[in-house]
Amino acid sequence: MTLLLDLQDFSVAYGSVEAVHRVGLQVASGEIVTVIGPNGAGKTTLLGAAMGLLPSTGTLALDGERIARPSVEAMVARGVALVPERRELFGEMSVEDNLLLGGFYRWRKGQRDQKARMAEVFEIFPRLRERRAQRASTLSGGERQMLAIGRALMARPRLLMLDEPSLGLAPLIVREVLQVVSSLRTQGVSVLLVEQNARAALQVADRGYVLEMGHVALQGPAADLLHDRRIIDTYLGIG
Ligand code: ATP
Repeated sequence: MTLLLDLQDFSVAYGSVEAVHRVGLQVASGEIVTVIGPNGAGKTTLLGAAMGLLPSTGTLALDGERIARPSVEAMVARGVALVPERRELFGEMSVEDNLLLGGFYRWRKGQRDQKARMAEVFEIFPRLRERRAQRASTLSGGERQMLAIGRALMARPRLLMLDEPSLGLAPLIVREVLQVVSSLRTQGVSVLLVEQNARAALQVADRGYVLEMGHVALQGPAADLLHDRRIIDTYLGIG
């Protein structure tokens, strides 16, 4: 199995405070991998650094090729996309225009398949097609999350990194969004999913990592983690 993303000894610090400490994390091609853990464990920091938004130490490799200085540009060029926790949509712009912005990098590279790709994204999220002319700020929370994911998919990523897509969503909508995320693998998209909603994340993931205070405290097949006493007591107590 090819390793799409391979982080080794991966650390991230804010000044002298280390938020991510010597993490080893892998995503194989076609895999859905989740990182769960409490507030402040370093999950967002880990994703940000893996996307090249924050400086890191250790090694980051994509398809076995080490990226010496991970930058957003380098990661995007290699097919990585990030959906940030705050979704960061352009509220005054329509659904369609938000999607088009997600394909901007490919457009700049001379790819002119934005309309075709948008049709594919509408297949994945039919609700967005119905609301294509609507301003993003008027969408429901679930629709906004779908738009944020759809916008990332416009870039035809091979690795989609999601930061807490369940945040602020009703349980039914969480399930709907995560079901779509798990179906992406049939389209050749691998997923790195950061979640505080451990149960929902482990139910769709193949493997999981538990991050605590910047360290990987536990890792394994998602099905095993769902039945692990420590996980049940600490993260699955409610819901
Ligand atoms: P949450 O689920 O609450 O988003 P998290 O697991 O994503 O938490 P991070 O947001 O990555 O955790 O934060 C990890 C640690 O790094 C925390 O102690 C946080 O206070 C610290 N931190 C995050 N961003 C910064 C920053 N810009 N400057 C300094 N410290 C930061």
